[in-house]
Formats: sequence, structure tokens, C-alpha cells
Amino acid sequence: MTNCGRLIQTCGMARTLVAVAAGVVLVSQASAAAARAPTLEPLVAEADRVWQLSEMGDVVGAGNRCEVLVRAADALRASGKLEMARDYYRRAALVRPWDLDTKVRFAEALLQIGDADAARSMAGQVQTFAETDRLLDASRALAGVVPLPELPTVASLAPQAGEVVLGLVCAPNTDHWMPGEVGRRLSGLLGVRVGLVAAPFVLGKPDRTGRAQLAEELRRSLPWTEQRMTLYVPGGKLVPPQFLSDDAVISVMRKLVEHDGGPEQIQSFRAQLALADAQQNWDVSRLLSDLGQSNVQPSQGKVVYLALVPVDLFSGSTDFLFGSASPTGNYGVVSFCRFAASFTGEPPKRARLVDRLCKQMLSTAGFALGVPRCGDLRCARSYPRSLAEHDAKGAGLCPECRAGFAKVLGHALPAGE
Ligand SMILES: [Zn+2]
Repeated sequence: MTNCGRLIQTCGMARTLVAVAAGVVLVSQASAAAARAPTLEPLVAEADRVWQLSEMGDVVGAGNRCEVLVRAADALRASGKLEMARDYYRRAALVRPWDLDTKVRFAEALLQIGDADAARSMAGQVQTFAETDRLLDASRALAGVVPLPELPTVASLAPQAGEVVLGLVCAPNTDHWMPGEVGRRLSGLLGVRVGLVAAPFVLGKPDRTGRAQLAEELRRSLPWTEQRMTLYVPGGKLVPPQFLSDDAVISVMRKLVEHDGGPEQIQSFRAQLALADAQQNWDVSRLLSDLGQSNVQPSQGKVVYLALVPVDLFSGSTDFLFGSASPTGNYGVVSFCRFAASFTGEPPKRARLVDRLCKQMLSTAGFALGVPRCGDLRCARSYPRSLAEHDAKGAGLCPECRAGFAKVLGHALPAGE
């Protein structure tokens, strides 16, 4: 055989191998489709029944079962049936418009189909309302949004003599978009330079947990001196509850409820325990002390360090705080935990979250600089006893607070706020 002949034969073999391989691929695709078909068809049929509810005017009923529409859309998209997937995403978006996660995938499907304008518009909704890095990052490129430049580092903003600079400090779980948006607003309101502390603010473990509080409540309320308690207390002897660990006290309660209570009481205790396990709070005094130790003052001028933390704060007997400043000044901690839609159950709205945060940061920054407390309801610095009061008060500063800031900052505040 000539070289040429060998080559042709080799090419022929190669073609055969390719054809066989292609066949394997086709067979495997066909079997995958066959394996998918039985699950896809009933899912789409179920989604059609949900959509029928909406067609018949029961939008609430359809909204309650929206996840079926979303599952069908996701499965159709995974199977390459993009046009059908688009229809089911559209239906899901009609009955549950605030499901931003689904809107991201809807936008991705629209882009796959080649409808870039619709994809950009859908992702734009997510960009407007999302409160988390996860959703903002997933939708940014689809929406064609260029991210804002990061704040400069505080280290690069050495204050001049007499100058006050704000240094924003983030916890590892603080969303990255937050210091940029809030910092720029504060800079405009107060006429100060704002920078970001590069090192994350490590919060450590919670200083108070719901489980510890529940155990304390049980130490006070259970009949610890009654003889029947020997059935439940470890060791079978009556022991003052202060000698028992939190877990032991809770275990006594569990045994008591399971022995003496009915199904409803058992259910109720389990629910109470689950709630307690979800509750974790950080002592703002400790955080302020840690913040001061990890961020020293510059050799000239001043940096007011404000930490933005995602955790719930408490102090002494005060159950929760939106923020607090060090009594000796220069340091403040602000929590966005209770401002976020994930906590309040509201639909997400980043502009509202930024408004809430900025009011609290103006308040805390004022205290960190020695600006007196304010009671003017039109002012961002008036004290709120609840989130409703925090929302109701004004977003700007009253004349007294403006004058107070001007005095401690050494310059008049920018006009218009
Ligand atoms: Zn005021």
C-alpha cells in the first residue's frame, strides 16, 4: 500500500470512528431525551394547570404554585427548548413579579434566544431592586451595567491636619455594593472624603443566642423544686437550674413536654426551639471595642470608622439596635440586618435599603463626632424606636444637626440637603 493509500485508509477509518462516535453521541442524546421526556411532559402539564388558574382569574392561586411554572421553565431551558422556556418564565414573572432569582434566569434564556433587548430589560429590573451581591453580580452583565468604581482605601486618604475622613469597614459577609453606594451618598451629604478599610472586620461568634435566652427563661419558669422534676433532671436529683448547662435545661423541658404534654405542646415547643436556634445577636460594645483596636487613628486629622455589619446588634438590656457609636468618639457600628428585605419580609428594594442605612449612618457618625442627639422628626438623626419610625422620619439633616456637623467637621455642609 502506498503512503497515499494508507493515508486514505487511515482517513476512512477516522471517518468511521467519527461516525461511530457521533452515533454514540446521538444515541446518548436520544437516551437522555428519552429519559427526560417522561419527567418533562408531566411537569409541563402541571405547569399548564397552574397557568390555567391564572387564565381563569385566580392569580393568587397561580402565584402560590409559581414554583411549578419556574421548574417547568428551568427544565425546558435545560432541554434546549428555549422558546417554550421563555413562555413559562414569562408566565412565572406575571404571577410572581418579585421573584428576582427567576428573572435572572429568564433574562439568560432571552439572551440565548437572541433577544438581547428583552434580556437587558429583564436584568435591568433585577439591577434596580436587588439587595444582594449574588443577584446584582448575576444580572450586571446581562443588563449592560458597568460597575461603579470601588471607594479608595482609607490608607490612601491620609487626612490633612484638622480634616475628618470617614472610613467604612465591612464584615466578611457585608455585600460589596453597599459601602460604595452608601459612602458616595454620605460624602455628598457631609462634604467629606470617604474611604474603605481594606481588611475585613471579623465579628467573631454571637455574644447572645436565642437558645441561651430560652434556657434562662426556663430556669426562671419551670417548677425546679417539685419532686416530679427528678424524672427529667440529669442524674435524677433535684438540682438548682443555675448549675445546669443551657442544653441540659432545654433537654429537661423537652422531656417534660414529651412526657406531660400533648402533640400540640410538643409541636409548639419544637417551633419555639427552632426560633431560638435562629436567633443570634452581637454585643455592640464588644464590636466597638474591637473596631477601635483594629483601626488606629492617623497622626494628623481624624478618621471616623463606621462598620457596616449584617448581624443583629444588642447592648445591655436593649434587645436590638440599628447602630451605636463609641462613647469616646471616632468609632461607630451600623447593622443593616433589620433594614434588609430578607429580614423584614418586604419585597427587595435597594434604594429603600440605602435610605435606611444612610439615615442610620448619619446618626451614628454624628454621635461618633460628638454632635448632640436630635428629636426633630424631619431629621435623619432623630431617634427611632422601630423600623416604622426610622422610615417615617426625614432623610436629610435639620438645621441644628447641619450646624453641629459643620462645627465638628470644620466646614459648612454642601447645600441642598
Ligand atoms: Zn437633627
